Amino acid sequence: MNVNDSERVAGLLQSRGLEASDSAAEADFVFLNTCAVREKATEKFQHSLGRLRRLKAQRPDLRIGVGGCVAQLEGETLLERARHVDVLVGTHNLHRVPELLDEAAATGRVAVDIDRKADAFAIPEEVTAHGNPVRAFVTAMEGCNHVCSFCVVPRTRGPEVNRPPEAIVREVEGLVARGFAEVMLLGQTVNAYRQGGTDFAGLLARVDRVEGLRRLRFTTSHPEHVDAGMAAAIRQLPRVCPYLHLPFQSGSDRVLSSMRRGYTRQQYLDTVALLRDQAPELALSSDVIVGYPGETEAEFEETVRVLETVGFDGLFTFAYSARPGTTALRLSDDVPEDEKRRRLHVVNAHQQQWQRRRNEACIGRSEEVLVETVDGGGRVSGRTPHFRIVHFDGPADLFGQFVTVEITGAGPNSLQGRLSQAVH
Ligand code: SAM
Repeated sequence: MNVNDSERVAGLLQSRGLEASDSAAEADFVFLNTCAVREKATEKFQHSLGRLRRLKAQRPDLRIGVGGCVAQLEGETLLERARHVDVLVGTHNLHRVPELLDEAAATGRVAVDIDRKADAFAIPEEVTAHGNPVRAFVTAMEGCNHVCSFCVVPRTRGPEVNRPPEAIVREVEGLVARGFAEVMLLGQTVNAYRQGGTDFAGLLARVDRVEGLRRLRFTTSHPEHVDAGMAAAIRQLPRVCPYLHLPFQSGSDRVLSSMRRGYTRQQYLDTVALLRDQAPELALSSDVIVGYPGETEAEFEETVRVLETVGFDGLFTFAYSARPGTTALRLSDDVPEDEKRRRLHVVNAHQQQWQRRRNEACIGRSEEVLVETVDGGGRVSGRTPHFRIVHFDGPADLFGQFVTVEITGAGPNSLQGRLSQAVH
């Protein structure tokens, strides 16, 4: 979502005549789009801001903008320790960046808009400067109505706002006309999408009908909103890829309840069973938090058991990080940092073994690969419909093409293969 927001701001600035620069040292304007999900992300932002302070001391004409979740969370208090910032915009005001930049240049004072009531979709979709020429992100909904105890997102992005399905379809049609073969629909809880009479399965069906689209992906799904209609859509719609990111966070019912995730371990497993019943080949990835307040060794072991039971194809693992304004902040962050790191190490080691096994099962298969990277030395890579990365030998002009690859080897994070049919 943040990548897509940055693409939209970059495109908007380019549509006003600015050019992208490779380095902050040469830029007239640097915009930092911030993430507040974990403390680590905000620390990175503080370091970047420090570097820009030094740069601005050498080049006082440099303008600096800060936008996104940290800007929304901290508001004008951020400016007290960052007086070198010229533009400050919240999560719903990115469309105002060019205007505020002009204002700051004219007045010499910081220009601010952190009004969350503004229209989050005000940037015209056609200006987006898509960073990946093969897969385009399309925002379907913004914000989140859930109340997960650990998560700052509802506070930074506000409640759910869904884009009209017509606008989403029109954007996808435009992208296909510009040569994109694959789109990924985005939302904090994308499968909670509902607008007028269109639910998420209905949205998938409408986008699936866009002529010329080859692959349709979406992220992130919340287990509570997976239903039979969504499972059937994944199975039936020809362009919907058989891959789903479905965070489970913890295998312990006590922790899940304290997290206010809205499901038990068994309900999560039942959801996976429903999906696999409809689409047995579905690839699944997930998010896990270790070291949540009060998480005992036995509760952590329950998380490891869910990994064993489900067998995920990918996993994003996080050490719990206390965030401002969240309800979990009232709980004592009592799992020591080195114990959180140990638990992360255990789940990651376990997951790597599992992924290797899942990937090894692909050896001997023929896979359709959309080529995404070429290194110039004859090595190319791309993704299968299941989102697995495949490396193989091939010419650079395969970039952006669909090819058939025979899988010859597998590691925990990717597959190796041999090109068997060039372009189709
Ligand atoms: N909206 C999505 C959802 O709720 O499923 C994902 C949002 S978040 C950017 C991605 C992941 O970061 C979450 O699924 C969670 O595992 C992790 N996360 C969020 N808040 C966290 C926190 N305070 N500490 C550690 N990990 C966190």
